[in-house]
Amino acid sequence: MSVSSTVASMTRESMWKRLEAADDVDVLVIGGGIVGAGVARDASRRGLSVAVVEMNDLASGTSSRSSKLVHGGLRYLEQYEFGLVFESVSERRILMDLAPHLVNPLGFLFPVYQGSRHNLLMIRAGMWLYDGLSLFRSPKRHRQLSSKDVETEEPALKSEGLKGAPLYYDCSTDDARLTLENAIDASRHGAIVTTYAKVESIMKGPSGRVRGALVRDLVGGRTKEIRARAIVNATGPWTDATIALTNGADAKAAHMLRPTKGVHIVVDHARLPVNHAVVCYHPDDGRVLFAIPWGDRTYVGTTDTDYEGDPADVAATRDDVRYLLRATSAYFPSQSVVEADVISTWAGLRPLIAETGVSESQVSREHQIVVGHDGLVTIAGGKLTTYRRMAAEIVDTVVRVLEMSRELKKELVPSRTDKDPLPGGEGWPEDDDHAKVAARVREASKGAFDEETSLSLAGHYGMRALVLAERAASDPSAAARIVAGRPERFVQVDFAVEEELAATLVDLFLRRTQLFLRDHDQGLGVVHAVAARMAQRLGWDEARTSAEIAAYEAEVARSRRWQAEP
Ligand code: FAD
Repeated sequence: MSVSSTVASMTRESMWKRLEAADDVDVLVIGGGIVGAGVARDASRRGLSVAVVEMNDLASGTSSRSSKLVHGGLRYLEQYEFGLVFESVSERRILMDLAPHLVNPLGFLFPVYQGSRHNLLMIRAGMWLYDGLSLFRSPKRHRQLSSKDVETEEPALKSEGLKGAPLYYDCSTDDARLTLENAIDASRHGAIVTTYAKVESIMKGPSGRVRGALVRDLVGGRTKEIRARAIVNATGPWTDATIALTNGADAKAAHMLRPTKGVHIVVDHARLPVNHAVVCYHPDDGRVLFAIPWGDRTYVGTTDTDYEGDPADVAATRDDVRYLLRATSAYFPSQSVVEADVISTWAGLRPLIAETGVSESQVSREHQIVVGHDGLVTIAGGKLTTYRRMAAEIVDTVVRVLEMSRELKKELVPSRTDKDPLPGGEGWPEDDDHAKVAARVREASKGAFDEETSLSLAGHYGMRALVLAERAASDPSAAARIVAGRPERFVQVDFAVEEELAATLVDLFLRRTQLFLRDHDQGLGVVHAVAARMAQRLGWDEARTSAEIAAYEAEVARSRRWQAEP
C-alpha cells in the first residue's frame, strides 16, 4: 500500500460542505487551538459525533504563539505547584511517545552566579525533585556542570561570577503542528474541522440550555445553524467573549480570565550561538526567561505582562523587545545583540484564570472546567503541555452533561489518546532516530531532497514526510525550494492546501511552514510565487490573490510595528 493512500484529504472547502450537510452533532467545539483540537480528537475517538469551528486558522490564537516547550516548568516548583509539575512531566513523557517527531528532548542550562537568588545547593535539590516528580523518566537525567564545563558548553555565556550550572532536560515542540495533528486525527475519526468559521451566536432551547450555534464563514460569507447536544467553549483568550454570546447570564463564569501577554524575539543563531536552552533571571525584575536554540535561529522569551486589548491585535512593542534585549546583553555581553538583529517577533496571550493580589508571572497555570447553568462547558487556563489531559477531563464532563440514553453512553469506547500516536508518529522508529526517517524520506524523493530538507521534513511531518517525498519525486516544481538556500519546498504548499486545511497565505507562512519567523525577510521575497501556487490550487482570481498578498504583508508589518515606536 502506498503511504499516500493512508492520508485522508482535508481541505477547508470539503470540511465546510460537511458542516453544511450536518443537521446536528453530539459535541460542538468552539475554538481550534490545542485545547479544541485535543477535545475533538478525544471525543471523536470515543465515538461521539463532533464539529470544531474555528474563526481563524487552527492554532492561530495562543497555540502557535507559545514558547514551544513541552515542559514540567521548573519555575513552578518555586511556587509550590507540585501537582501541576507532576501532571506536566507525566504528559511530557506521553507526548514524547505520541509525537516523537514533534516533541524532542532539549537540554536546559541554568547558570548560577555569585549573588544569584538561589544557590547551587538549592537548585540541585530542585533538580532532584524535578526528576523525581517525573518518576525519573525525564528525557535524560540532570547533571551538574562546573563553571569550567559551562564555559566549554556555552562559550558565549557571561563567565564572570559564574559558579556552575545544572543541565536538565525538557522538550521543545512545534505548537502549531501539534495542534494540527490533533485536528487531523480527529477528522480521521469523523470530526468536522472547519476554519474561518466564527460562532456569532449561541442558541438555547426552551429549558434555557445551549442547543446550537450560528456559524459564519468568514471567507465565503455563508452561514450555518448547527444543533449540538453539548457545546464546549475552548476559545482561550476569547473565553469571556464566548460566554457573553450566551448573554452573559452566568455570573459564575463571567470573568474567568486574566490574560497576560508574552513576547518572543528571533535572531540568527550566529548572533546568539547557544547550544542549550539557557535559563536566565531578568536583571530588571528577576522573571525567568529562556534563550532557545532553534536550528539556524535562536529565540528569546518571554515577557509576562497583563493585557486588556483586543486578543486579535496582540503584538510586540518596542518596550517588550528592549526588555528581552536587556536580558540578552546581561547574559551574553560579548555578542552585543541589538534591535537590528531581530528577524521576527511573536506575541501571544496566556488564557490564565483570574486571580487577584498576585503578579502576572505568579498567576497559576492550572486549568478550570466550568459547566454553566445553561450547560455550556467552558475550559480556561492550562498549558500546551497538559492539553491532552485537559481534553480528556472535558470530554468526561461532556459525557456527563450530554442528554443521551444509557444505552448510547454504553456504546462509547475508550479514546486511547494517551496510547495511540498522532498521525506523524505512526510508524516512527522505536529508537527515535530522526536520521533514519530522513534517509527513508530522501530515498522516497528519488533525489529531489537533500539531507537537510529530508531531516527538516521528517521533524515537521513525521512519517507523513514520505508522502511529500513521493509527490516531490514525480513533480519537479513541487520539489523546488521556496526560498533559495532554505530547506522548505513547494510541495509543502500543495500539501498544506490539500491535506492540512491551509486557506490563506498567512496560514501557510506562519503555521504550515515557519517562514514568517525563520526567513530573513519573513518570506516577503517569495510571497508572489507562493501566492501563485496557492491560487492555482484554491482557484483564487487576481483580486483574491492580491488581497491575500496584502493581508500577508500587513501581518508582517504588524509584527514589525514596534520598530516605528519611540
Ligand atoms: P487558543 O490557542 O487561543 O485557541 C482558542 C481559539 O478559539 C482561537 O484560535 C480563536 O480564534 C478561537 N475562537 C475564539 N472565539 C471564537 C468564535 N467565536 N468562534 C470560533 N472560534 C473562536 N504552554 C506550554 O505548555 N509550554 C510553553 O512553552 C508555553 N509557552 C507559552 C508562552 C506564551 C507567550 C503564551 C502566551 C502561552 C504559553 N503557553 C505554554 C500556554 C499555551 O500556549 C496555552 O495554554 C494554549 O496554547 C492555549 O490553547 P487554547 O486552545 O486554550 O487557546
